[in-house]
Amino acid sequence: MTLLDIFDPKASPKPIGIDLGTTNSLVAFVRDGRPQCIRDCDNDPLVPSIVHYGAHNTIIVGKEAGRLAATHPRETIVSIKRFMGRGARDPETRRLGPYKFVEPKDDADAKVVKFEVGDRAVNPIEVSAEILKVLKKMADDELKRVGGAVITVPAYFDDAQRQATKDAGRLAGLEVLRLLNEPTAAALAYGLDSKKNGTFAVYDLGGGTFDITILLLDEGVFQVRSTGGDSALGGDDMDRALAEVLLPQMGFDAGGDRPPEIVRIAIDAAKKIKHALTDEQVVDVELPSKGGATATVRVTRAQFDELIRPIVERTGVACRRALKDAGLKAADLDGVILVGGSTRVPFVRDYVAKVFGMTPLGDIDPDQVVALGAAVQADLLAGEGDPDEVLLLDVLPLSLGIETMGGVVEKILPRNTTVPAGARQTFTTYADNQTGFEIHVLQGEREIAADCRSLAKFTLKGIPPMPAGLARLEVSFDVDADGLLHVSAREVKTGLEQKVEVKPSYGLDDDQIEQMLMEALDHGEQDLKQRKLIEQRVEAQRMLMATRQGLEADGDLVSDEQREKIGKAMGALDAACAGSSVGAIESGIAELDRLTHDWAGKRMDRAIAKAIGGKKLDNVEGSVATAAGVDAHVAAEVKES
Ligand code: ADP
Ligand code: MG
Repeated sequence: MTLLDIFDPKASPKPIGIDLGTTNSLVAFVRDGRPQCIRDCDNDPLVPSIVHYGAHNTIIVGKEAGRLAATHPRETIVSIKRFMGRGARDPETRRLGPYKFVEPKDDADAKVVKFEVGDRAVNPIEVSAEILKVLKKMADDELKRVGGAVITVPAYFDDAQRQATKDAGRLAGLEVLRLLNEPTAAALAYGLDSKKNGTFAVYDLGGGTFDITILLLDEGVFQVRSTGGDSALGGDDMDRALAEVLLPQMGFDAGGDRPPEIVRIAIDAAKKIKHALTDEQVVDVELPSKGGATATVRVTRAQFDELIRPIVERTGVACRRALKDAGLKAADLDGVILVGGSTRVPFVRDYVAKVFGMTPLGDIDPDQVVALGAAVQADLLAGEGDPDEVLLLDVLPLSLGIETMGGVVEKILPRNTTVPAGARQTFTTYADNQTGFEIHVLQGEREIAADCRSLAKFTLKGIPPMPAGLARLEVSFDVDADGLLHVSAREVKTGLEQKVEVKPSYGLDDDQIEQMLMEALDHGEQDLKQRKLIEQRVEAQRMLMATRQGLEADGDLVSDEQREKIGKAMGALDAACAGSSVGAIESGIAELDRLTHDWAGKRMDRAIAKAIGGKKLDNVEGSVATAAGVDAHVAAEVKES
């Protein structure tokens, strides 16, 4: 007798967790207190995030769509996640994929990119919704009544990307309870929240993206301390590297003609070999070869490891940077979590262990762990649990600062600062009688203002003329919980104030942020050199100006011989500034400093004497401090020259 599975209409709907991945998507739920993934008819929980738009309005999602990608590249959208929250005129948009884009009619229309697929036009929200509909269908079949959904997003997703993900959920007919950061989901799957406190690194190597996140667990609340990674690094790179080894053995050398379908076959074979090598030491495969023959190819684990070493080692740079950004050392971590299908590769596991100096947590299937964590969170939200028990604070994706003399950037709020946040810094005038300050607000990691993104410019005018160095300009940066930056500039002596409000993340998406970070990394050394050069030039010019003014005011305190030497040194320093040797400027400054040292002492004495109105120095010790304060500009000038 067959037992019927009786559906109880009064049973409460089951909440679900969804990992909407770049390469693969999954759906999970909690049964008897344990999260589990829902599997398709092939017993596979992974749904490739691929959507094919065919004739007669047919839409195919998943593995079958993947098979159509080779023959119908323009109608088959892969990695739609990369387009979420992206505009049509975004330069990055055109760089991604072989797609045909719809030309936007106007600015409003350009806000969302549209793909031309056959006779239809679809946007990323609609494409993602197709994937979500399939996941919802799997859940419907398994659970009969589906409740609300928690959908995961990368920790660095900005407002627009998060909103687009939520919209896709709604379009798929889901009640989106909450979006959850992927690394936090992984930590929840491991039950780390029960530890109450700790610091964890989440290493996520997927198909085409690498993300590293440092999470702080504080009294049961997760905070993202820093995020980093590479939006163009993942298992696909391993497949391509191995395909490059297979192709010559199939009779197709690098220089020669390579039909795209042959390259496709090689990449597919490479992926299969890679997966097999996770458990085996040696894999033999038969591949089609030029002229209709077959080639038997053998790949060993050792060969494969050497091949992927440069790819994997690129993740180490981002890991160390994320630790540094969080102000931590590897030894401070309480655990490292492996996420993403590519962390199944033994070489990757060993590498992560080496970088962090500890065995990473990897018992939960790394390509399911995010979905499982999302299910745990969904269950918590639907149940009695306090929905705010697990929450997440955002961090600044890029540093914020202002431009200072010579076009260099002074960072006021460094990247990865947890928001809301505020910081204040004091600046002073460079030239005498400066009556206005121009405040140029910048975003980015580079040292030179021109290489950063300009967010706002405003001026603070009406400052009464004062000697250089006397005005005190206080600049405050405040980022509120919505990511809005408020900048205010106040001249302390006069109380003059000016404010602006900017939205730092507006129009910037993760790839652009990623690119800016990569550029900062690439140019790091060169930038620092240039910054040093500019700073030395500014310093030299300031000194030259002060010396010139000093000669006018107190020229009688130097001998003619000394004056000539000083003049020569000034000429030499000026000439050094025209060149690009930091060392030459530095020694020019040192030389002028040496030559003016005694004279500076005499000038100081005169200034003090003047300030105390001719009183004898030895009985006015108490008033020296005030006197020096009054003539601070002279003191400062002397100190600097
Ligand atoms: P995403 O988060 O980008 O959606 P996944 O976490 O699903 O991606 O990871 C997909 C990647 O994992 C693919 O490159 C796939 O080849 C790789 N992968 C899956 N299983 C294995 C395995 N057994 N060995 C090596 N790589 C694997
Ligand atoms: Mg993933």
